[in-house]
Amino acid sequence: MTPIERFTHLGRSPVRAPDQTTRNAQVRGAVVRLAAVQERTLRIRSTYGADRQGARVDHYVFEHDGRGELRAVMLTPASPPPWPGVLVCPGRNATLERVTGLIPPDHPGRDVAAHLTRAGFLTLTLDHGLDLWAAPAALGGRDAGDVLDGTLRLHGGSLLAALAEDALAALDWLRARPDVAATGLFGHSMGAAVALHTALLADEPIPLCAASHLGTYQTMIGKLLAWNQYTALPSILRHADLPELYTALSPAPLQIQYGNADARLDHDDAAQAGERIATSYEPGRAEVLDLPMGHSTGLAEAADFFTRALAKPAAGDDEPFVPAARVSFGVRARLDVLDLVDDALASGSLTLGPCGARLEDLAGHELGRGTAAVSSGSSALEIALRIVGVEGRTVLVPANTFFATAASAVRAGALVDFVDMEPDGLGLDPEGLRAALDAHEDVAAVVPVHLAGVLPDSLPQVLAICAERGVAVVEDAAHALGSSLDGRQAGTFGRLAAFSLYPTKVITSGEGGLLTAADPADLERVRRLRDHGKLSFEENLHEDLGSNWRMSELHAAVGLTHLARLAEVLAERRRLAAWYDENLARVPALTHHEISPDCATNHYKYLALLPDGVDRAALKRRLRAGGVRLAGEVYDVPLHRQPYFAPRFGDRSYPRAEAFTARHICLPIFPGMTTAQQERVVQALRDALS
Ligand SMILES: *Cc1c(COP(=O)(O)O)cnc(C)c1O
Repeated sequence: MTPIERFTHLGRSPVRAPDQTTRNAQVRGAVVRLAAVQERTLRIRSTYGADRQGARVDHYVFEHDGRGELRAVMLTPASPPPWPGVLVCPGRNATLERVTGLIPPDHPGRDVAAHLTRAGFLTLTLDHGLDLWAAPAALGGRDAGDVLDGTLRLHGGSLLAALAEDALAALDWLRARPDVAATGLFGHSMGAAVALHTALLADEPIPLCAASHLGTYQTMIGKLLAWNQYTALPSILRHADLPELYTALSPAPLQIQYGNADARLDHDDAAQAGERIATSYEPGRAEVLDLPMGHSTGLAEAADFFTRALAKPAAGDDEPFVPAARVSFGVRARLDVLDLVDDALASGSLTLGPCGARLEDLAGHELGRGTAAVSSGSSALEIALRIVGVEGRTVLVPANTFFATAASAVRAGALVDFVDMEPDGLGLDPEGLRAALDAHEDVAAVVPVHLAGVLPDSLPQVLAICAERGVAVVEDAAHALGSSLDGRQAGTFGRLAAFSLYPTKVITSGEGGLLTAADPADLERVRRLRDHGKLSFEENLHEDLGSNWRMSELHAAVGLTHLARLAEVLAERRRLAAWYDENLARVPALTHHEISPDCATNHYKYLALLPDGVDRAALKRRLRAGGVRLAGEVYDVPLHRQPYFAPRFGDRSYPRAEAFTARHICLPIFPGMTTAQQERVVQALRDALS
């Protein structure tokens, strides 16, 4: 079996085949992982320019950490700005001067940058710098690219990734220019491989014209000695072959050209690959051209493609879509997860192992309290309430919280009752709490919920009331990992506290939860209960009725990696929230929720209150139609109105919870969100509410 057949066999069984969109995202993800590019910005070392036949020619030399310098030539058309821009990645044997037409071409189609600039495009042509980085004597006749590739591979990199990294930086540089309207990528031969990977690694869809680089890797490397090994990422066939890499760019405009007289490609192989791409791509967005040429470029076809692909977009089309939330694991984090998962698989330690222990240590260190990892936030709550001993007794929970807060108490054998929200705040109402404690003699626990990640003003009073009455406090800190009040971390106020690591939460393990306990004996009990009440890992003696509430090592790998980035995640959320704080004044209809300066929230949710009479569902539909999705509310239906509880509590009234659940919205806030996206949210709200 060839590697690709093995891959096909595993990943493409008829039952399990993912749809094309998912598959494309997986392929792009694999490329990001294998390329593992670092962030790079271009720093200009020197530049000089001149006018030449009505157009302008600028030479740039950029600093390059690995190779000393990176040369580029920018050609500016004679027409007035702004111009559509094209980044040109030349083939291995092309020189900058020939591609930009500064000296006559040695090969048909070589002067592609000159041609595109005559057609009205600003072009930036990169010299990949493969022949400049080392002195010929040091190479001793070896190919400079091969030596560089070999060196990079020692560090788990590759030359292709390094070239794509350069091209990404050049693309950013081009896009930041105020005289460049929209940008596309062109590449020929090896440059086409660079351009393709650059497009796959770019954050946004980008039009690509790739010339003379088509086929399947097996055929290309097996048959033709002329093929550069460094036009493919190491290990890529475990994930995708070249046609699938092109397909993964869908729906960005794509043109692939190949020549029917190209001695370096296998024509049948290229034609079949082209067919595969054309049939899997978003209809009408990809064209594969079989041209009467050798290993060359169809200049007119390329210019025509960019003219169509970079035409001024219809108004609104280029505005950033804003999702409600996004789970973001950067490439470093993903590689760390893979290493930890591989450790677990190699050692056979798949649950209650070293990774979970490290997660517990790190969480304990962050929170300043002993911590155990469990299978979910809900199981953390249930275990905590079982330890407190709530069976047959009453547990008081907020009228406005997630269903799981109350459901966990019910599963632990308790009866629940609800307490309204405090005036002008998100916490429990101290008066309501006193009244509920008076009404029930058998209250075993109170569960304050740190809604939206905020440690509410009323928390100290709630804790004091519970202490006075001798009632245990179990914090539902599912929203609040990383939040603190007067420097004290969420999850360290109650006898026990539960955190959720569900994907929508600030830190996730996929599925999972954390439990903290003030008393080490409680923490020991947590460890027994999560593993069927077993006395120890080795002995099959059970003294408690626990359950399987364990966290697997695979989940722990994700959680540990994410938790290790808590400080970054918090800093980013706080930066985004500060931007909203400053800019929400532009939407006068909205009241932004004031948070006490004593609370350092993790900004799990960014809350705002709608004016009376605004139909929230209609507002959300309207925003959605304009490309802005609001995050989910916390919450839109209070517990006494939930169908499960309504038969018993439906006639109750909790006026503050009812008003809050009906009136608030949650603005999108997630790591990786851009200022342009935030700007879009504010504009959309302003338009919709004025
Ligand atoms: C998410 C959440 C839970 C439950 O956590 P899971 O990990 O999904 O079981 C409990 N309480 C609140 C307030 C939550 O938001």
